[in-house]
Amino acid sequence: MYLFKRVADLGQALGQEKKAGKRIGFAPTMGALHQGHISLIQSAKQETDIVVASIFVNPTQFNDPKDFEKYPSTLEQDILLLTAAGVDYLFLPSVAEMYPAGPDAEHPHYDFGYIESVLEGAYRPNHFQGVGIIVHKLLEAVRPDDLFMGQKDFQQCMIVKRLLEITGSSTQLHICPTLREADGLAMSSRNMRLTPGQRATAVEISRTLQWVKDNLGTRPFSGLRAEGLARLEDAGFAPDYLELASGNDLRLLDAPEDGPMAILVAARLGDIRLIDNMTVGS
Ligand code: AMP
Repeated sequence: MYLFKRVADLGQALGQEKKAGKRIGFAPTMGALHQGHISLIQSAKQETDIVVASIFVNPTQFNDPKDFEKYPSTLEQDILLLTAAGVDYLFLPSVAEMYPAGPDAEHPHYDFGYIESVLEGAYRPNHFQGVGIIVHKLLEAVRPDDLFMGQKDFQQCMIVKRLLEITGSSTQLHICPTLREADGLAMSSRNMRLTPGQRATAVEISRTLQWVKDNLGTRPFSGLRAEGLARLEDAGFAPDYLELASGNDLRLLDAPEDGPMAILVAARLGDIRLIDNMTVGS
């Protein structure tokens, strides 16, 4: 695995690969890697010739500075995992490399419309603008044929889909399934920060999602939402939201409809905020 820290050097190396006719796959991450990240790499290896991963904890997408400071970092282990997974290029830029004028300088504004105002957007002001800024910069650096992202961040996938449209990109987005621990907890870098007690509680998020999914349509969604939120509160969570939404455009729903849907949840355990979702329908 080659490691690059500069956009120009990475671009030059990947330019050679492209000239040789290689299809480039890319999986951006913020490090503190787990098997969920590795599953993206495995999908990329199946679909493409050259796999690029990036590790960059992007300051502009953290609305809470404490969350940014406390974001876990396990770089040595990450490098071992990516090497073992067969990644060809690791891009590991500094903040100065990605934001030469500083992360607080003025950035382009993306018109993501409604999808950036609901759910995560309502609780994390400017988060998706920050995601747009960094994904756009990373895509310009890597220029991948295929981009691999996790359904775990359902709304982020919709934002990136829109970003690809806005920027007229020909990169193809692949949304990969959420990897879970044996008890159902969605794998997440933030899980590393959970105390053993919080870890035991955390499973209630996926249990609640599954319970809502199993009971969808048996009573009005408002009732399921209220019971689900109460379950989370009883377990020790401070929930932010539990919603049913259209899988196409994230319109919040009062009742199931035909077509793809998602049940989405965000809840806090102490200062750790966890999100998860399950899709319903086709
Ligand atoms: P992150 O490092 O949290 O920014 O995540 C990097 C990529 O990995 C994103 O596309 C995430 O959606 C994806 N990802 C995170 N957790 C999981 C998981 N449990 N299963 C599959 N993909 C995941």
